[in-house]
Amino acid sequence: MSPRTSRVLAVIGIFAIAAGLGAAAMQDDGRTWKVHAKDRPQPDMVEPGRASTGERPGTAPSDAIVLLSEGSGLDAWSNGKWTFADGVMQVKPGTGDTLTKASFGDCQLHIEWMIPADRECNGQAGCNSGVFFQDGKYEVQILGSNPNQTYPDGQAGSMYGQYPPLVNPCRPNGQWNAYDIIFTAPRFAEDGSLLAPATATVFFNGVVVQNHSEFMGLTSHGSKAKYSKHDTEGRIKLQDHGDPINFANIWVRPLPERERAW
Ligand code: MG
Repeated sequence: MSPRTSRVLAVIGIFAIAAGLGAAAMQDDGRTWKVHAKDRPQPDMVEPGRASTGERPGTAPSDAIVLLSEGSGLDAWSNGKWTFADGVMQVKPGTGDTLTKASFGDCQLHIEWMIPADRECNGQAGCNSGVFFQDGKYEVQILGSNPNQTYPDGQAGSMYGQYPPLVNPCRPNGQWNAYDIIFTAPRFAEDGSLLAPATATVFFNGVVVQNHSEFMGLTSHGSKAKYSKHDTEGRIKLQDHGDPINFANIWVRPLPERERAW
């Protein structure tokens, strides 16, 4: 064996010992798991919801918190002046935004929306709403965008004022659109400095339009977004922008913080 080969074997040996020690530490640590550990908890069974067809709203998976469904009424929402019929909630223009009564941190949100067939969309006017996380701080824009041109970071599926959607899969007015959003709340240090930004992954009618995009700060109109410290949980808000936008089949699944396996 050459001196070089023996040195290589010695280094491999040290790594093997370190890995073995690491494995032992993992076994003793309740938070972590060995690769392919059979005693790791099985994921819960969940009955999936029914997919939206484009004309008909879908239904929620069995473990979701339902915010709007066929028979829900407006119980989950703060603004009782918005209208509700046959599972559809509509913005009552001029009555203000509506917010969930409950608060959420990291979550998966499903929401379906439709611009009335007879609406005329002209840039930001006529067909505008928005879904906001954390008490109105982070907006994914809702806008009639088929056809309708506006500034790209303000069209449907944009993280308003920050990122345009990667593509535009918006359906025409009179048809239902669906967002599936994975939102991660920002994390702040005690002194208010940002530890991790808020992020959003957005599927728009099944098409990825935001891929784990980082919010640059709280949504703002016409100015650069900035962060300021806030709680990890907040209400979900739908915007009254003066237009009678329809909503259906809204549900949310709070997401746990994942532990590292090793
Ligand atoms: Mg908006």
